[in-house]
Amino acid sequence: MNSGSTAKTILFWFSIVLLGVMLWKLVSSNSQSSRESEITYSEFMAKVDAGDIKEATLYLQQNSYDLWGRDVGSNRGFHTTLFKEAAPGVMEQLRQKGVQVKVKQVRSPDWLVLLLNGVPLLLLAGFCLFLLRRMQGNKGRATLLTSPSPRTGIGYDLHRLEAGRPLIVGGIALPFDKGPFGHSDGDVLAHALCDALLGAAGLGDIGTHFPDTDPKWKGANSMIFLEHVKKLLADKNFAIEHVDGVVITEKPKLGPHFPKMREALAKALGVSADKIHLKAKTNEGVDAIGRGEALAAQVVATLSSR
Ligand code: MG
Repeated sequence: MNSGSTAKTILFWFSIVLLGVMLWKLVSSNSQSSRESEITYSEFMAKVDAGDIKEATLYLQQNSYDLWGRDVGSNRGFHTTLFKEAAPGVMEQLRQKGVQVKVKQVRSPDWLVLLLNGVPLLLLAGFCLFLLRRMQGNKGRATLLTSPSPRTGIGYDLHRLEAGRPLIVGGIALPFDKGPFGHSDGDVLAHALCDALLGAAGLGDIGTHFPDTDPKWKGANSMIFLEHVKKLLADKNFAIEHVDGVVITEKPKLGPHFPKMREALAKALGVSADKIHLKAKTNEGVDAIGRGEALAAQVVATLSSR
């Protein structure tokens, strides 16, 4: 937890304690109000005569006065209502009996006391909720920050083209007079795809898993490689999010065959075909690819953790 979060946590719990104290004061204030009783003027003066009330307060109302005093023995408040005209005489009478008299403006009605207590309470409760939401938001952001990021890998492959060999690209046999020379079926797109997936997962490259010195892979269908890579990714809890590939060749035209290639690659990888995107490029007649002596493929693959 960083210092900012610690400060917010301390502030939050401090606010909770403060809220509790204010609630306690409000409850005790109401409790105190309930410990006050209205009595008659005669009863009030009897308490004065008995020495139970030493101090009194005269609250000025609009058409009457409210005389209030506390019983020093029971600590209970008592009040009585006086006619306006009677107030000066009563004050004089109380003073003569040794009672200390104060005169104050009208007593705050209970609703005003509640309002004065309630508004800060509402503000404090809102502030606590605000802090709580901020803390939950920070927790959510921390979860996002610690969640694994998507992983990307790149793959490239090139094979020489030789007359009389079958042309296999993306798991599909294409009608053409030349085909790739290689230990396996020479599917450049499948091989580049394997490398992109293995690279994104940090699992090496195609040569590590399917060495071209192993006779087991001689003439192998490259879809077998992809199916094996699919299992390796599953073991590491990786899911394929997207594949973007480009095949570079002068001939033949590949675009019409892409739907079948995407289906074949998707089937081998156990994903839907819409996760695989393919493009074709020529090499503008330049270099070995441009002269029709080779074909190549580049693939970018994106993985996520499950
Ligand atoms: Mg290859």
